[in-house]
Amino acid sequence: MEKSSEISGFYRRAPGERLKLVTDFAGLTEEEAELLRKTGALNIDQANRMVENVIGTMELPLGVATNFMVNGKDYLVPMATEEPSVIAAASNAAKMARPKGGFHVESTLPIMIGQIQLTDVEDPLAAKEKIIGEMRNILVRANEQDPVLTKLGGGAVGLDVRVVDSTVGPMVIIHLLIDVRDAMGANVINTMCEAVAPIVEELTGGKTFLKIVSNLAVHRLVRAKAVFSKEVLGGDEVVAGIIKAYAFAAADPFRGVTHNKGIMNGVIAVALATANDTRALEAGAHAYAAMDGSYRPLSSWERTGDGDLVGSIEIPMAVGVIGGATAVHPVAKISRKILGMPSARELGEIMAAVGLANNLAAMRALATEGIQSGHLKLHAKNIAATAGATEELIDKVAARLIAEKKIRIDRAKEILDELTSKK
Ligand code: NAD
Repeated sequence: MEKSSEISGFYRRAPGERLKLVTDFAGLTEEEAELLRKTGALNIDQANRMVENVIGTMELPLGVATNFMVNGKDYLVPMATEEPSVIAAASNAAKMARPKGGFHVESTLPIMIGQIQLTDVEDPLAAKEKIIGEMRNILVRANEQDPVLTKLGGGAVGLDVRVVDSTVGPMVIIHLLIDVRDAMGANVINTMCEAVAPIVEELTGGKTFLKIVSNLAVHRLVRAKAVFSKEVLGGDEVVAGIIKAYAFAAADPFRGVTHNKGIMNGVIAVALATANDTRALEAGAHAYAAMDGSYRPLSSWERTGDGDLVGSIEIPMAVGVIGGATAVHPVAKISRKILGMPSARELGEIMAAVGLANNLAAMRALATEGIQSGHLKLHAKNIAATAGATEELIDKVAARLIAEKKIRIDRAKEILDELTSKK
């Protein structure tokens, strides 16, 4: 029988009980569970092989979002984030999506762009023609660099050439289009671009400079869609409020960017949990949001004929399940197992669904009780901890801060002084 990710009261359980449920759901081994249970899962030697000048590791909470149904399949979604409410919001929105079938997603092939900058050509347009004429040889040279990729059905599949005006004169920009299969792809793309540069120089008599992946992954897109019934959302007024909130984001980039930040809350938390390149995703998403010359929301929301709410998102998703840190970080490997060992495409599809879920949750909160009340509990606990409350006093101090509606560090210190002097 298919396992359900709808686990009632998951959030009320202790971390150990939650881990037991996830272990059963995903078939984690005792060693994997133990790695999650203890802190310091990434040991210093592993860290020292990942980056330079290592002196320690930096931990983040890892949670799982429940209730996700994506293309009819149930997922528990690992999310790593320092921000309160993100995981709860994703779980909550995923629950609200279930009655209408959850999230429906589709994606393009994982085709990325590698850029080669060619300068010092006498006739840029003639150079462009020559490069296009030599496409076959260029692709062959590119594919020689990574036989694994071609064996898997990927590799360099095409190229585009543009003449771009710049402050230092016209330059010919070649886009090598590469199907990177299950990798994020940056390294393989950079290698291929460097390998074909000599052919381009020889053909045109020009000089190639930059040879690097583009983070604007316009050919590697995911689309996700979900319907939320008006009853589940809280009625007509809530639907109207969300549509108004979306209209604001569509009309004003100052709101649009925060709307998109809410989407990235979910996307990046899954990216971190799976050790993907968060900067690449952020850069790509925001550039894609501005593709038509003005900054736009990555999602759109409207009312269906039945008065329900339908949301959709289109977002570039350069994520991998192989290569980079994804294969090295022990927790990332466990996160992939919790997700059922998805391909890179499937992972990207889940991430778009999570982004849409976080977007809906944020808009619904804003359109109803306001964002702060959802944030309040954990925020108050953080403030209590910052004020110096020990483990046994954090909840007491936080409860007082909330009751007094004064979630401030100075007040937390006063309450703490009061409580400790009573002891
Ligand atoms: P990688 O260099 O480890 O290469 C992954 C390899 O996996 C590819 O060469 C491919 O042949 C292979 N592969 C793909 N699908 C496979 C499958 N199904 N089975 C077996 N093998 C498969 O990793 P990468 O994805 O090329 O590079 C990602 C890293 O590059 C990230 O850490 C990123 O941060 C970094 N990076 C990013 C940028 C940027 O975004 N601008 C620039 C440079 C480096």
